[in-house]
Amino acid sequence: MIRLQNIEKVYRTDTIETQALNNISLNVAKGEFLSIMGPSGCGKSTLLNIMGLLDAPTRGDIRIAENSTSQLSDKKLAQFRNRQIGFIFQSYHLISDLQVLDNVELPLLYRKSTARERKELASAALGKVGLSNRIKHFPTQLSGGQKQRVAIARAIVGKPQIILADEPTGNLDSGMGNEVMEILLHLNRTEGTTIVMVTHDEQMARKTHRLVRLFDGAQVQ
Ligand code: ADP
Ligand code: ADP
Repeated sequence: MIRLQNIEKVYRTDTIETQALNNISLNVAKGEFLSIMGPSGCGKSTLLNIMGLLDAPTRGDIRIAENSTSQLSDKKLAQFRNRQIGFIFQSYHLISDLQVLDNVELPLLYRKSTARERKELASAALGKVGLSNRIKHFPTQLSGGQKQRVAIARAIVGKPQIILADEPTGNLDSGMGNEVMEILLHLNRTEGTTIVMVTHDEQMARKTHRLVRLFDGAQVQ
């Protein structure tokens, strides 16, 4: 589903050059749930951003669902990303002056769907994360775990084949973290969604199919 070959990423400014990723080759199979761990600054977020086509590698090839993405225009890339990939972040990234339902509808605004279809899909996604009773709330009126569940609903509303999650439980206590993790595991099991998750939590990582460790921009196992 995701194939990275010999990926290098160098961040250059006038004065500094940082090699964030050093020759990473990695395949993520369809339906796989992969965790990525490693110390701060080892390149985890960079790797996830490259997998998610949010950032381009300095060198190397990336294929998503058999599609080579390097030739796509920015517009096509955005469209492809919108259809294929859902993102979840540690700090939720919800829009604070939109109600829960409207937040979840956001990815659908880039598609040719009617207002009614958007509402139906968003309501269904919120049902899947157990938040049907919070659709008119604003993000500030929710707990951290609930906010992350809204973010998961937003990530899955367009039925993407891939979910990329950057420390999805990093801001949550263990109870809420486990709830969020259970939702991701269920999604992977029942819908076959391919999931790549960056985490600092060994216990969470152990619940997934495979763990990749990074150190200093390189894969160690
Ligand atoms: P996280 O995704 O874990 O919250 P950040 O994206 O905030 O982490 O940053 C990760 C690392 O990248 C940090 O060490 C930070 O200092 C560094 N970093 C982020 N943005 C820049 C930048 N524009 N220039 C230099 N270093 C950066
Ligand atoms: P992690 O997610 O594992 O904490 P990152 O992928 O954020 O690591 O960062 C990897 C390395 O790249 C770090 O040394 C960081 O300082 C550097 N880095 C990240 N983003 C930038 C950026 N935008 N500009 C310059 N350096 C960056």
